[in-house]
Amino acid sequence: MDLYDIIAAMPKVELHVHLEGSIRPQTLLELARRNAVALPAHDEASLHEFYRFRDFDHFIQVYLTIIGCLKTPDDYRLIAYEFGADMARQHIRYAEVTFTPETNIRANGLSFDVILAALNDGRAQAYRDFGVRFQWVLDISRNLRETAVPVARWAVEAQDRGVVALGLGGPEVGHPPELYAEAFDYARAAGLHCVPHAGELGGPPSVWGAIRALHAERIGHGVRSIEDPALVAYLHEHHLPIEVCPTSNLCLGIYPSYEAHPFRRLWEAGVYITVNSDDPPLFNTNLVREYTVLADHMGFSAADLGQLSLNALHASFLPADEKTRLEAEFLDELSRLQSTIEHDA
Ligand SMILES: [Zn+2]
Repeated sequence: MDLYDIIAAMPKVELHVHLEGSIRPQTLLELARRNAVALPAHDEASLHEFYRFRDFDHFIQVYLTIIGCLKTPDDYRLIAYEFGADMARQHIRYAEVTFTPETNIRANGLSFDVILAALNDGRAQAYRDFGVRFQWVLDISRNLRETAVPVARWAVEAQDRGVVALGLGGPEVGHPPELYAEAFDYARAAGLHCVPHAGELGGPPSVWGAIRALHAERIGHGVRSIEDPALVAYLHEHHLPIEVCPTSNLCLGIYPSYEAHPFRRLWEAGVYITVNSDDPPLFNTNLVREYTVLADHMGFSAADLGQLSLNALHASFLPADEKTRLEAEFLDELSRLQSTIEHDA
């Protein structure tokens, strides 16, 4: 086995990935056809061209176009099921998957309960067929500020239906975390976890805001923390995990190249870091490729990548007993995979 075989076979956990941004291109084309939605693309190649990042406004437009193809409960069942199939293909055993309820409801008029029930049907079928598990992070869209508290209420009420955390996504610039404190206070008081995006397009003040005003338990992205040594020290001291998505950061123009990306520097500074794919087909990536990027461009060894996989497991919101059980499995599989390298050498 070489390093690439090991990356493919490693047991993994993913913490930062959006369901709507994970829909297979072929499925999106089929949904558009079935639901008579006019897409600005008619095949996978032109869809790929449409996905190419131009600016954040266009990126939001891509997202709205994708969501505009989802019309029926069956559509939601299908995308959740295929998400699970794609997890299994990549040996992702567990994921926490972000879904943006308000944007979907505005687009198709289905109720939150109907959408969640369909998503959970797909999730349960994926578990039966592939043995993969995932749970939901419901996120507030920053530009729909008036919906922040209602989304938090939905998330709280759906804790018994696979929702583990409240997220915060959408345009970070001009929408600082402090504006959403009421929603996060409400969610936290009801026992939900809090995982806002911060420090992606916004700088360190946005991450500080997510920590101080929202009591973030993980930071979505958080890469721009590197610009503030005191913040890097804080993340290290408080073992606050960050969910880094290197290819997404390149596609959105935050860094010009993998070599310029701060992943390695954050890792060396002792930050509790995880690697994730964000919106795999939109960025022409997936979690396996993100691990490969770390090996190819940032000098990560098989042992380092195994540690990153364990970081994601530890930073997940699984109950402690499930974490312990999975950790034993992961350690066993990782050491077996790593010994194949030593054997070959
Ligand atoms: Zn994201």
